[in-house]
Amino acid sequence: MDETTVVRGDGAGLLRAIQARLPDLRLLTDALDRESYRRDETAYLATGLPLAVALPETTTQVAELVRLCGEHDVPVVPRGAGTGLSGAAAGIAGALTIAFTRMRSVLEIDEANLTVTTQPGVINADLKAAVAARGLFYAPDPASYETCTIGGNLGTNAGGLCCLKYGVTRDAVIGLEVVMADGTVVRLGGKNVKDVAGYGLIPLLVGSQGTLALITEATLRLRPAPPERATLIAFFGTLEAAGQAVAGLTAAGLGPVTLELMDRTTIRAVDDVHRLGLDRDAAAMLLVESDLPGQAAVAEMDAAVPVCEGAGATLVIRAENAQEAEWLRQGRRLAYKALEQVGVARMEDIGVPRSRIPEMLGRIEAIGVRHRLVVATFGHAGDGNLHPTFLLDRSEGDAAVVRLDAARADLYEAALDLGGTVTGEHGIGAARTDWLVRQRGEAAVAVMRSIKVALDPRDLLNPGRMLPPAG
Ligand SMILES: Cc1cc2nc3c(=O)[nH]c(=O)nc-3n(C[C@H](O)[C@H](O)[C@H](O)COP(=O)(O)OP(=O)(O)OC[C@H]3O[C@@H](n4cnc5c(N)ncnc54)[C@H](O)[C@@H]3O)c2cc1C
Repeated sequence: MDETTVVRGDGAGLLRAIQARLPDLRLLTDALDRESYRRDETAYLATGLPLAVALPETTTQVAELVRLCGEHDVPVVPRGAGTGLSGAAAGIAGALTIAFTRMRSVLEIDEANLTVTTQPGVINADLKAAVAARGLFYAPDPASYETCTIGGNLGTNAGGLCCLKYGVTRDAVIGLEVVMADGTVVRLGGKNVKDVAGYGLIPLLVGSQGTLALITEATLRLRPAPPERATLIAFFGTLEAAGQAVAGLTAAGLGPVTLELMDRTTIRAVDDVHRLGLDRDAAAMLLVESDLPGQAAVAEMDAAVPVCEGAGATLVIRAENAQEAEWLRQGRRLAYKALEQVGVARMEDIGVPRSRIPEMLGRIEAIGVRHRLVVATFGHAGDGNLHPTFLLDRSEGDAAVVRLDAARADLYEAALDLGGTVTGEHGIGAARTDWLVRQRGEAAVAVMRSIKVALDPRDLLNPGRMLPPAG
């Protein structure tokens, strides 16, 4: 048997029942096909080989699948594109993975109400392009936006490069259609901008990582397309100076749409791959952008320059045109992929209140030194959300992994000590369950458990993810 999590229920009976009741459903049972659904982007976690992978095209099929899984006591793992960084879409041995990639229709763009209604398997970039063709803008933009799905974004409450101004995925959701653990289809919200009837179930389900319900349709807020951005990059001699600039820009009341950080290791890795001509000797770089209308964007960048210089910027450069700005943005988006060229990369996702960014950056550097690990840091600094990424030398083997585990524990303690979080946007998933009680406390986790028991009493949906084992 492969690395295990859970094997339970009557898998063979489930497969027979699916084939009988849903003969048109695409169901992958071949071991090689299933193998590609074993992992998400957290290659280091123990995972399981799914019993089978279902690729439904309709809500009716999803509801029937969940009902059949209940009847046969086989757990369900919902999955989008598998780009997640917490192990929450990885396979569970003996469970049915329901991958939403064939539910990929944009159902309605409602220009009068500024909403889009979509199936969950639509790729984020495709949704953005579909609404942009009507002069509209869907804001949430994880760096993985060209590959991740809207369902996965809803499952994780994904952030991204312009959350600072426009909020995270949850802020964009006003309606959902979901399949509950007993197979019931429930519609929540709709197109009302204001709607306070009953408990707020949408914010609860968004970010629940497939542990409470399966999302089969979403109605999302749109905005008029913003104007072209003004973009600048600022280089710093120390990481802490860049952190001071982040805190300074926030304190100055500026509202950039993007405020992203890359440290020296990341700058060099990105420049090696993309040849952007970045200052490879700088200790850190900030990417700052404004999408205010007309001259206001230039004025906002004008105001950002003295703040960066006051914090110690050694060089500030403005993008000359939209193409140059897009190259810089794309360089930042692909930072993790560039770091993967350097060594085995393990990306973390801590967050701190923005005023504590300089201190957090100092602590990250010290943790790297203490555990003799290369740590590259980049991330959504304007949100206080950093991705310290440990880079392991393949030749070092297990010794480095032991040091990494210790470094990771120190990293989480440091973030919590500064009033922060062990995960800003990637989620607890399977990777961080040990830390949930440490961050939220026993009482809060008990409330979460009671919600899980109420909505999924048989622990059918993504078991073992998000909540640590009881007791
Ligand atoms: C290079 C790179 C950059 C990234 N940048 C960012 C970033 O900037 N911001 C960010 O937040 N994340 C980022 N991520 C992480 C990841 O892309 C996001 O978490 C994304 O939202 C996952 O989408 P997915 O379609 O791949 O979902 P998956 O990984 O397949 O699933 C993610 C979670 O959603 C659940 N889920 C999927 N579909 C459904 C559904 N229909 N109903 C209920 N639950 C569902 C799954 O069970 C799982 O818990 C990045 C990842 C990579 C590799």
